[in-house]
Amino acid sequence: MTGLVWFRHDLRTSDNAALSDALTAGPVAACFCVCDQQWREHDVGDRRLAFLLRTLTALQARLEILNVPLRILHAPRFEDVPGALEKLWDELQVTALYFNEEYPLNERRRDAAVAERAKRNRLDVRRYAGSLTLSPGTVRTQEGKPYTVYTPFRRRWGELVDPVAVNPAPAPQRQPQAPCAGDPLPPALGGVSHELEADAWPAGEAVAAASLERFVIERGSRYHKDRDLPAITGTSALSQHLSVGAVSPNQCLKAARDANGGQLAGDDQGINVWVNEIVWREFYRHIIAQFDHVSKGHAFRTDYDALAWRDAPEDLHAWQEGRTGYPLVDAAMRCLVATGWMHNRLRMVCAMFLSKHLLIDWRAGERFFMQQLIDGDFASNNGGWQWSASTGTDAAPYFRIFNPASQGKKFDPKGVFTRKWVPALAELPDRYLFEAPTREGVDYPEPVIEHSAARQRALDFFKAK
Ligand SMILES: Cc1cc2nc3c(=O)[nH]c(=O)nc-3n(C[C@H](O)[C@H](O)[C@H](O)COP(=O)(O)OP(=O)(O)OC[C@H]3O[C@@H](n4cnc5c(N)ncnc54)[C@H](O)[C@@H]3O)c2cc1C
Repeated sequence: MTGLVWFRHDLRTSDNAALSDALTAGPVAACFCVCDQQWREHDVGDRRLAFLLRTLTALQARLEILNVPLRILHAPRFEDVPGALEKLWDELQVTALYFNEEYPLNERRRDAAVAERAKRNRLDVRRYAGSLTLSPGTVRTQEGKPYTVYTPFRRRWGELVDPVAVNPAPAPQRQPQAPCAGDPLPPALGGVSHELEADAWPAGEAVAAASLERFVIERGSRYHKDRDLPAITGTSALSQHLSVGAVSPNQCLKAARDANGGQLAGDDQGINVWVNEIVWREFYRHIIAQFDHVSKGHAFRTDYDALAWRDAPEDLHAWQEGRTGYPLVDAAMRCLVATGWMHNRLRMVCAMFLSKHLLIDWRAGERFFMQQLIDGDFASNNGGWQWSASTGTDAAPYFRIFNPASQGKKFDPKGVFTRKWVPALAELPDRYLFEAPTREGVDYPEPVIEHSAARQRALDFFKAK
């Protein structure tokens, strides 16, 4: 009688309900499926593959301490997964399969196929909501419908999540002996070595736990003041760990609660606002779990599917390469491509610029972000893009159009961030930096479109839909 824990984007041993439960029931082996072809189809970029591999390496070391062997299966596409798992559970005489749920549509279909195959093989299938605090379907309106707007979702979520509910799962118990040998990890995933950008993006649950602790102690109370300033580290920088599951939302919320007098919404304004961000993550996961059309590339608001976006490859390239003539946008895009990171405020500015100033389909931007971001996550990325393009769950209408110059003056007033990434503007006096950066002797392009003309064009575009 062996239990098999199937790891996916839950690459941690602590607060992992699937693993802890399996270990209380009997001998346990673990596995991970390398779905490199499918990941590429889902726009997973090189730096994320390398980060995933480093996180797996750290997981394997933790599992060894628990005497849980990690088997590595190659299943290039999701449809290959049931067969690959079946072979393993035949070999190990597995009687129960344990895993934490994933919510995009392809992942749910894969899991349904695996569960069906497992049941046919008389395996017990145990599923857990490991990447969420509350399962989709448990946060509903009085009429029993899913919430489609964040603020009422947040309110209801807060009512349901009493402090006890954020207690992480029990610590996993070491088993006396491993039921089989583990596999060595591949040196590369999808052709990408674990060494890629290894210094910039350290991985694994110990790194994530240390970052969480440091954030809560050192920066948590200032979060509401600092979180919009890209020139400083005012946020937790945990999203890449959350996206591979090296840390869980429960662990984040527990740390927040412990630092806030035992409350999720207590006296510490910074922590309160940070908890709201964790709930945004939950919200977008509930959306993709309950609205299948979002995973099929459609606008959340399906009436916006009819918008005739501009086909403008040159403008798209200028945006991707940080050559729009808007310093804040260009600095942010250059930072993204060079490092795999973009600050949340700038993600909104850049996404709105592409979809509103340039009227380019938000899906082109969503895809580019996904390929570049170290924390690329379908639910949050899609949610952020659709929010910015006004096709999504945002309660505000399409006439929210950020002015990149005003955003620059407000959130990077001395231009510290902008000058770093656009060195041609390093010596430009503050008064010109965001308003009139194109000057004689400065190697910086003219704006691709003037702001007020772009704003009017966007208003007309959305009004006419
Ligand atoms: C256009 C766009 C694309 C985005 N793409 C992604 C993505 O691919 N992956 C991703 O994890 N986040 C994405 N976000 C959300 C957000 O920008 C990042 O989660 C955040 O910048 C990560 O930094 P942090 O870990 O320091 O966050 P903190 O500010 O410390 O917040 C803590 C955690 O809360 C969650 N969170 C914070 N803000 C949001 C948000 N707006 N939506 C959902 N969850 C949030 C993240 O998991 C984050 O790690 C996107 C936002 C926009 C506007």
